[in-house]
Amino acid sequence: KMISIFSPALHKQRHQFVIDFVKKNKPRRVADLGCSECRLLKQLRFHREVQLLVGLDTNAVFVHSFRHGLAPLSTDYLQPTYNQLRVELYQGSVTQRDARLRGFDLVTSIELIEHLTLTDLEHFSAVVFGYMTPVSVIISTPNSEFNVLLPGLSGFRHSDHKFEWNRAEFQSWALKVCSDYGYEVEFTGVGEAPQGQQDSVGFCSQIGVFYRLKDRDRCSVLAGSDEENVFSYTLLYSVNYPSLHDNNTLRRVLVSEVLYWAEQLKNRWIEEKSGGRNGDFTRCQTVGSVPMEGKKAGIYVSVPLAVMWSWCPKVRELSESLGNLRHLLMDEPQVKLSQDGSAVLDSEYSEDSQCSYSVEQEEDWEANV
Ligand code: SAH
Repeated sequence: KMISIFSPALHKQRHQFVIDFVKKNKPRRVADLGCSECRLLKQLRFHREVQLLVGLDTNAVFVHSFRHGLAPLSTDYLQPTYNQLRVELYQGSVTQRDARLRGFDLVTSIELIEHLTLTDLEHFSAVVFGYMTPVSVIISTPNSEFNVLLPGLSGFRHSDHKFEWNRAEFQSWALKVCSDYGYEVEFTGVGEAPQGQQDSVGFCSQIGVFYRLKDRDRCSVLAGSDEENVFSYTLLYSVNYPSLHDNNTLRRVLVSEVLYWAEQLKNRWIEEKSGGRNGDFTRCQTVGSVPMEGKKAGIYVSVPLAVMWSWCPKVRELSESLGNLRHLLMDEPQVKLSQDGSAVLDSEYSEDSQCSYSVEQEEDWEANV
């Protein structure tokens, strides 16, 4: 294939261009038009600033067979972060409007426009720049001037291409779009020609980066509000990545953290106790005992939340305040709290156990950390 003359491969360079742009400009909502195998989307989901990633393609087969690559990984569930990410894949055409793609920070169209007839390209411009009106748009398309350097190529680079433009053609189209819809554009590209030929042929893929003008509201072509409820795309796939902003996810992580630390603190306390030392865990209490069976002398221990709070940064980070920690754990079936809610009871402990539990003095334990 002709593209193998580039290293890294040309399609990777195009996607890297978008990724670099995302790193720099930190868009929150990104839509990739003509997303095909969703390769670009797959890479973009690792960028924490991105909160909504949308892919659109007419070819549902593509989108359908590659959507699984966009599902959260098990680590996303096990160690969720505060990042929020939602992914949506649609079947639909860029020549049609759909209100769900309005108001994005970045819309990308990588090697798409050359697949459109010139009539459809007009619709594309009106839909993307006149209706979606994203803050920025990245459009890449072949630069036909470069074709002389592609070995064995006659005609277009792909049989489905309706046109391949030289730099002047692309730039005059882009500038027309800008003046019609209130954008400005910078021209660049990826896939460099050999030394000495760079000026004469340009980049293999030419790229226009468009920015919406601040005062574009004065443009006459703005879509009216009556068009706000157009839904012409079909949602094929959507997923919300687990996020600590989601209360259920937060609780799940907090509970497993609390259970883990209750066990850790209990064991440390038992160790200190048997070593005759009185360390920081003195405020843990024996709440009951079981017949000596295992090695661990079978005692039940309660771990005050205040102790856990001062020992476990992750618990602090997740719960934000001691009061909130207690509140979050109150209705958790997996965590047993003491009656006053100030301590985590041993997970082995049950009311039936012979119990010498004594409630710690109700000190001002929130202030006591
Ligand atoms: N952007 C991808 C692939 C580009 S190939 C990449 O960077 O690798 C062009 C893609 O555009 C194909 O998947 C094709 O199905 C899609 N396409 C063609 N016409 C379209 C239209 N009118 N609306 C949306 N997608 C279209």
